Amino acid sequence: MRYGMVIDLQKCVGCNSCTVACRAEQGTPAGVHFHKVMKYEAGKYPNAKMRFLPMPCMHCQDPPCLKVCPTGATYKRDDGPILIDHEKCIGCRACMVACPYDSRQFLWDIRNYYAGHPATPYEQIKQKTFDKGTVVKCNFCVQRLERGRLPACVETCPAGARKFGDLDDPGSEPSRLIVLYRGAPFREDLGTEPSVFYIKG
Ligand code: SF4
Ligand code: SF4
Ligand code: SF4
Repeated sequence: MRYGMVIDLQKCVGCNSCTVACRAEQGTPAGVHFHKVMKYEAGKYPNAKMRFLPMPCMHCQDPPCLKVCPTGATYKRDDGPILIDHEKCIGCRACMVACPYDSRQFLWDIRNYYAGHPATPYEQIKQKTFDKGTVVKCNFCVQRLERGRLPACVETCPAGARKFGDLDDPGSEPSRLIVLYRGAPFREDLGTEPSVFYIKG
């Protein structure tokens, strides 16, 4: 079993619903992003087009962040996701330097969304799951997987651009899409064996 995601760049319309769903699910403090959608222009005027590259953590199977973590705070689950044990994280940020995908963020502070106002009841609950002075990132929504749900970003994508499942199962939807459309990781040449694959437009 190896959890993985496929993102079809031909279908992505850059709406950022995935980013919003991620924030809502994880309750990330203001300024903290577990997911981003990069924008770039392809082609030349008058045939230029805007393209989008949604980027969660790549959950690499040979993760550089894990190799440099001095405390064992960064670890890999048997079913693939790369997670951080905040109890063990000393905030050294070596993992941030090692990650080639810029997937990690240091929690300098835990800020409310509405500056000058107290945390909302939802923020008060979610902020308890964050520790100032530690590093955070996308966790493939393991808390949802354990309840039989898909990651929030996958479930919410209105274009159906994101698929999630077992990459070790050749019959799973992501595995079939990777074969059918020659899906590949972003910067495969880095050799980190990401568990996020892209179908190119
Ligand atoms: S929700 Fe889907 S269509 Fe919208 S930006 Fe994310 S991946 Fe693209
Ligand atoms: S910041 Fe935390 S997770 Fe990252 S390398 Fe240091 S101890 Fe490990
Ligand atoms: S898998 Fe979960 S934590 Fe990761 S980007 Fe998607 S919604 Fe955010």
